[in-house]
Amino acid sequence: MAALIECAGIRKVFHLGDQAVQALDGVSFEIEEGEKVAVTGPSGSGKSTLLQILGCLEAPDGGSYHLDGRDVAGLGEDDLAAVRNRKIGFVFQTFNLLPRATALENVELPLLYAGGLRSRDLRQQALRAMDRVGLSDRLQHLPQQLSGGQRQRVAIARALVTEPRILLADEPTGNLDTRTGEEILELFEELNAQGRTLIIVTHDHIVARHCRRRLVLRDGRLQDS
Ligand code: ADP
Ligand code: MG
Repeated sequence: MAALIECAGIRKVFHLGDQAVQALDGVSFEIEEGEKVAVTGPSGSGKSTLLQILGCLEAPDGGSYHLDGRDVAGLGEDDLAAVRNRKIGFVFQTFNLLPRATALENVELPLLYAGGLRSRDLRQQALRAMDRVGLSDRLQHLPQQLSGGQRQRVAIARALVTEPRILLADEPTGNLDTRTGEEILELFEELNAQGRTLIIVTHDHIVARHCRRRLVLRDGRLQDS
């Protein structure tokens, strides 16, 4: 059986003017379904770039990425959009919620994009996701009316609502105090225990301790750890 995620020799170069930045320089690893992996390394080492590639938000310049046995490079725009929408949920450090939409509306959005659901079913699914993160009593709040930890919970509900098998989080506790960050990590732990594959980018030692497996990046390369 192939691993859920198989990366071989992944490279990514950014060009700024006449300067080339080698953000990833030959990164290879596999992640099995249900694993929980921390990606750590200093600032600028390529963590976010790697996560963007895993989430099919960026294409690598070299190497190969197989997701669920399929070569991502061979997917067209429609297939890529479907993968991003249904297979993968994304959580960001800055939450990235729509400021004028209520918490519930923010969570409904990925389902709207996915299409094919009646509005009542869509609402039911979003309500379940809000319940899952413990925010059933904050449905009509706008993001600015919520605490940082609550905003991140809404963002996690939004990532969960299409029931993806993979959750990708880029420094999800970076804007939270230690205690709130711990609560968010516990939530991630529960979601992983239910079988979801979890990949968390962080330079936070506490987060890394929560994960059995660590990938350590330095200057765009994986270190042995
Ligand atoms: P990390 O998340 O570990 O801090 P990043 O993946 O964001 O690192 O960045 C890796 C390197 O690639 C850095 O040197 C950064 O400046 C560069 N980089 C990232 N994104 C871009 C971009 N869109 N354009 C140009 N350079 C970029
Ligand atoms: Mg980053």
